[in-house]
Amino acid sequence: MLPPETAVWNFVETIARDVFRAYNFQEIRTPIFENTELFARGVGEETDIVAKEMYTWEDRSRAASEKGQSLTLRPEATAGIVRAYIEHKLGDRGLNKLYCIGPMFRRERPQKGRYRQFYQIDAEVIGPASAGSDSPARDAEVLEMLSTLLDRLGISEWNLQLNSVGCPNDRAAFNEALRKALDPVKDKMCADCQRRAVTNPLRVFDCKVAEDQPIIETLPRISQFLDEGCRQHFAAVQAILTKVGVPFTLNDRLVRGLDYYTRTAFEFTHGALGAQNAILGGGRYDGLSEALGGPPAPGIGFAIGEDRLVMSLQEKASDEKVLRKPDAYIAPMAGMNADAARLARELRRQDLIIELGDDSFRLKKSFEAASKTGAKYILIVGDNEIQADAFALKNLASGEQVSVPRAQLAQRIRGR
Ligand code: AMP
Repeated sequence: MLPPETAVWNFVETIARDVFRAYNFQEIRTPIFENTELFARGVGEETDIVAKEMYTWEDRSRAASEKGQSLTLRPEATAGIVRAYIEHKLGDRGLNKLYCIGPMFRRERPQKGRYRQFYQIDAEVIGPASAGSDSPARDAEVLEMLSTLLDRLGISEWNLQLNSVGCPNDRAAFNEALRKALDPVKDKMCADCQRRAVTNPLRVFDCKVAEDQPIIETLPRISQFLDEGCRQHFAAVQAILTKVGVPFTLNDRLVRGLDYYTRTAFEFTHGALGAQNAILGGGRYDGLSEALGGPPAPGIGFAIGEDRLVMSLQEKASDEKVLRKPDAYIAPMAGMNADAARLARELRRQDLIIELGDDSFRLKKSFEAASKTGAKYILIVGDNEIQADAFALKNLASGEQVSVPRAQLAQRIRGR
């Protein structure tokens, strides 16, 4: 990742941090690698991630207790965050809203919008049910926060797809019905679906193969299997979203690839991104903490694909507010490096972006160097200027030049 694109990454992360703060989320940084077992249990043995996409190796540590331990580069953030929640008893400290920004690793076939090292912006609400973490109000709050984040980033063409995947009981009945429905037709489906039909029939809904779609259309849907509690929970989420004005589309084919999801599942897609059009996905995972050996702690969270978000914001790479080119280039005349350094220090401490030239440059070379940086002004530092304590300030675009007293420079450069 190179400039100027890295400026867009910073723009995205700054806004994300601001928005998270407004909803009282705090940052957590989890390790880049953890015990393989954490991801196997937290993400699910039968998921594609665990079955074929993890970067896993055996530790060569000399300590007998660690030798041969299986380690894995994190393929997603939720398992690590819930591990930390349990290990550090974050619930007891009232730390229920956490976010994490960083790289994830999956061995997928690389293509546009799909990489082996990619970045996620992840946030989770987790805690004891007594703190209300299982409430539909949390689901709606998280979704409303996402719509605010996308709006703040200037992404308008988003579409929120919403579903409920029910509780484990609903899922068991649904899986049973799916298996029954798939049995007579699975031989006509793609190889992946034939495997899914046996191991994890729910995943059939992820299939993108065109020929399989007419068959998939006829399959039973999870919406027909929700129990009363799940139905009410889902209705409450929708009612709040409608009230606060966040548009959504119900999509009962949306099942999400990870085993630990319960109830609300969602995905935001973006029109302009092509085949890999999901910019973020998430949902509720009420049983995950217990599956990892922790206390009951319902949760809901999401992961934004930052690479894809940045891709949809390409135009920002030429936005001056995002790029922030130097405000001024200081060009010292022969022997004036020290005075120029002092002036640069003063201006930088007033929050201006300053590029500092070198007194070995002729004036012509300084002008060329200044234009290359994209600086708005060139500021010349010579004997006369130091004597007068006023500096020649030239606007590189208009060519206009004025002499400005030292004390007024910062204001003048800011254009005030
Ligand atoms: P997931 O953790 O699979 O639910 O993915 C959440 C989001 O991360 C997706 O909506 C994508 O935007 C992004 N994502 C997932 N896998 C990749 C990848 N290999 N490369 C780039 N982005 C990805």
